[in-house]
Amino acid sequence: MNKILYRSTRGKGPVITASEAILKGIAGDGGLYVPTEIPKPEPSLEKMMNMDFSNIAYHVIKDFLQDFNKAEVLEFIDKAYNEKFDTPKIAPVVKIGGTYFLELFHGPTLAFKDMALSILPYLMISSARKQNLEKEIVILTATSGDTGKAALEGFASVPGTKIIVFFPENGVSEIQKRQMITQEGSNTYVVGIRGNFDDAQAGVKHLFADMELLRKAADKGCIFSSANSINIGRLIPQIIYYFSAYLQICRMGDIIPGEEINFTVPTGNFGNILAGYYAKKMGLPVKNLICASNENKVLYDFMNTGIYDKNRDFINTMSPSMDILVSSNLERLIFSLCGENTEKVRELMEQLAEKGIYKIKDFTREQLNGFYGGYASETDTSEAIREMYEASGYVMDTHTAVAYTAYRKYKNLIPGDNMKTVIVSTASPYKFTADVMKSIDPKYNGFDSFTLINEMCKLTGIEIPKGIRDLEQKPVLHKTVCEKHEMKRQIEKILDL
Ligand SMILES: *Cc1c(COP(=O)(O)O)cnc(C)c1O
Repeated sequence: MNKILYRSTRGKGPVITASEAILKGIAGDGGLYVPTEIPKPEPSLEKMMNMDFSNIAYHVIKDFLQDFNKAEVLEFIDKAYNEKFDTPKIAPVVKIGGTYFLELFHGPTLAFKDMALSILPYLMISSARKQNLEKEIVILTATSGDTGKAALEGFASVPGTKIIVFFPENGVSEIQKRQMITQEGSNTYVVGIRGNFDDAQAGVKHLFADMELLRKAADKGCIFSSANSINIGRLIPQIIYYFSAYLQICRMGDIIPGEEINFTVPTGNFGNILAGYYAKKMGLPVKNLICASNENKVLYDFMNTGIYDKNRDFINTMSPSMDILVSSNLERLIFSLCGENTEKVRELMEQLAEKGIYKIKDFTREQLNGFYGGYASETDTSEAIREMYEASGYVMDTHTAVAYTAYRKYKNLIPGDNMKTVIVSTASPYKFTADVMKSIDPKYNGFDSFTLINEMCKLTGIEIPKGIRDLEQKPVLHKTVCEKHEMKRQIEKILDL
């Protein structure tokens, strides 16, 4: 096998190793790092069928991380996927009716972001050692609610790091917010901004390109990196659970190794579903990837028309982690679909930056190579939660319900597709008690989110996850709120630049 390195989707700058790409987060030309080749795991699916999550993880990620040795990769996996998760399966597949739910919310912060952010700090620290970096790593992160907490949890008290999280002050659920502002650890900083997630994400991207800030930070012995899914170190670990889910369904006896299945993924920044696409390119038998959006349905429109247009109102929905109009990782898909034409990618991304819109020339659906767009309105989402609960007792969170709706619409669109389908279930319903409970029964309307934690437990019998059990009583440790143009000032203050 060839050596796998990383290069920018926009074609400028050097080709670098995994550890360099993980440290840098984003390429100097504003592009995202992509592997020079997608590897195929050595063992056959039959051989992997009886492996546990950690073993599967090793075979899936090792070839992407060639400047780390076997002992290192095994150590990261061991430290990431352990008792911090409330099930030894780590990411269990649950079959409800004829549909499979891949539950990615059994980690410490109750959302799928734990899958990658449990391992990223180890990758990052080890990358710094490999690069002989003496500097302190400052993680700058924009969050639509779940990345922030998962990154804080992952990096809290990790020596040699600081983490600064920006979140939309009014754009996350009450429980998500409380999880972040009560974060302990003297190296953690959480700042609310008066703006939406796109403002926070654009702000952070600008900061990475702010030469004055970078220089001042360097003088203080600091270097910036990212825990967002623009960092390749977050995408690679997300490929694991696509394999693990497939193999679990093989083990159930519902498919034979080699048989194709579909995945439906609730999508925001396009990181999760892109990992599914990489899994497919690695040889996992995936037929279609159904990309589910909420009312901020830029991706749905793109997949149906070839036009990406962010010039529209930003809608705050009950699935806030998907309230995004600029899905960063789509750039990686476009890079792949246009034959790795970096010139083309650069052109489209410049149009996006300047006009907020770009158009794929001579667009056809076939070009999407198995991607379908679906979306759910707020009413669809609520109804899906209630209907599922009434039919089976299973409680979906709001993001998972968006995916479930998109899947049902897809079934109507393509009635002949009876392929087994996995709904990627990205958050625990306990993170979104207000919207989930009032969807199940309007009598819960107006109740506060914390009261509803106990009500949800009574109704469902599912134990209250450890991560939120005494959340309401925890002291608020982070109170800073700023305007969106003040993010740089906040960093200067925090780092004393
Ligand atoms: C982040 C998040 C998403 C969106 O995932 P992307 O990788 O950004 O597409 C969906 N659901 C939940 C619960 C999330 O936290």
